Amino acid sequence: MTATPVDPELVVGLIDKYMRMLGLHGEGPVVEVRDNLGSRWLGRTTYKGGRIWIEIQARAISNPATLEKVLAHEMVHYADMSTLDGNQITLLKFGIGDFEHGAKFWELAEIVNREMGDGYVGEKSDPSYELGENTRPFFVVAERVQVGRDRYRVGWRWSAKRTPAIDAIIDELVAKGAVLFESTDERFLGGTKMRKGEYGRSLCREGSKLEADLEEILKTAE
Ligand SMILES: [Zn+2]
Repeated sequence: MTATPVDPELVVGLIDKYMRMLGLHGEGPVVEVRDNLGSRWLGRTTYKGGRIWIEIQARAISNPATLEKVLAHEMVHYADMSTLDGNQITLLKFGIGDFEHGAKFWELAEIVNREMGDGYVGEKSDPSYELGENTRPFFVVAERVQVGRDRYRVGWRWSAKRTPAIDAIIDELVAKGAVLFESTDERFLGGTKMRKGEYGRSLCREGSKLEADLEEILKTAE
């Protein structure tokens, strides 16, 4: 796990700010910083154990402006969720990811956007987000994949953890000439994850920098 450079006071201050802006009272959400490799979400609001939780990815909190924007969006989800009745909450308990952006969400987003500027709370991440770089190492297997009679391409798979099942996959690939290495390079996180019983892998675009980088690594096995 990476050390998380978040200032708790800053988060508490921002939660208070948006509680006030949205006219909310009460204890507010539980805020949790997560460090999930390869996740597509930066923030999400969920319901568990009788409380509403806001989870934020560690890479979204290294820049205060980005942190505030992600939190503002999630606080709108929080406000939206706070208005649900018991039945709706029960439905939410059965696993939600990002709660929907419905009419009520946009009504509440408008309250924030009147104060913070048009589009401050939008549908999802915007290009102004500055994300910290991943610093958490993970495992990557580089491999040559036969795609035709005499044609090979370079591919990879990754895993956050080594378990006996993952090790079995790795051993099988290494026996065929693949190379296992550790990396923090986010380019690999966009590829296929190693999972028990799954044998998918991602192929590099031909002529790409990624392909050249993996070629270098594969040469170490020859
Ligand atoms: Zn959302």
